[in-house]
Amino acid sequence: MTALEMMEALGFPADEEKAAKLTEYNAMVIAMSKKVNLTGIKDVDESLIKNVYDSLTVYDAKYFPEKGKVLDLGTGAGFPGVPLAILRPDMLFVLVDSIQKKLTFVEDACKKLGIKNVKCVHMRAEEGGRRRKTREAFDVVTARAVKAMPIISEWALPFVKVGGVFAAMKGPGAMEEMKQAGKILRELHAELSEKKEFELPGGDKRCILYLKKTAPCPKTYPRKVGIAEKKPIIGE
Ligand code: SAH
Repeated sequence: MTALEMMEALGFPADEEKAAKLTEYNAMVIAMSKKVNLTGIKDVDESLIKNVYDSLTVYDAKYFPEKGKVLDLGTGAGFPGVPLAILRPDMLFVLVDSIQKKLTFVEDACKKLGIKNVKCVHMRAEEGGRRRKTREAFDVVTARAVKAMPIISEWALPFVKVGGVFAAMKGPGAMEEMKQAGKILRELHAELSEKKEFELPGGDKRCILYLKKTAPCPKTYPRKVGIAEKKPIIGE
């Protein structure tokens, strides 16, 4: 499958310039992964599906407003943040990770490809969620393969504007995780607005949970660095 075919398969207008950027970014990730640990996937075609295509599945026009702001939490090698930024050049994408080396790669690659709407920020999710500049500042927060729902919800939701969404990109166990996150989601004023279940080309099962934020999060969240992982709030 080519990037252009991929865009068509996902229902996006076929755009050769965007397809070329997606292809090139994917190739850069794979070339770099041979030197440093960026993604587990080492094959270009496999990465195009499992990283690039998978990243684009979270896109849904109704949640991504014109000129809005998106935060990608635990972006790693830039997934899903960079493919989404290529798709939507009008929006600003803030990519956060606690490992600087990964962000340096993402920044360099975006510069080479002329992707101007990506800003990389080196910080821990728990710090950013408490900062005035980034708290309740985003229309959408995405996170793929970062932590289980109770933890990632505590990290992600403080960044979301009231009325915005946290899009959690999960595998087949998503609803089980969702149950365990019931209590923290209530405390943070988030409710499940949509669940998308589908398969990637090749058959891997995916599930995306869109959680809508209905009111500001209590000031006590996120708790200090490391606490959500050490003492996750688990319960229905
Ligand atoms: N989203 C990417 C990477 C997933 S790996 C993808 O799907 O390919 C999880 C990433 O989360 C790692 O890059 C790790 O450095 C980052 N991470 C872990 N804990 C974090 C924290 N507290 N704050 C910010 N990033 C964190």
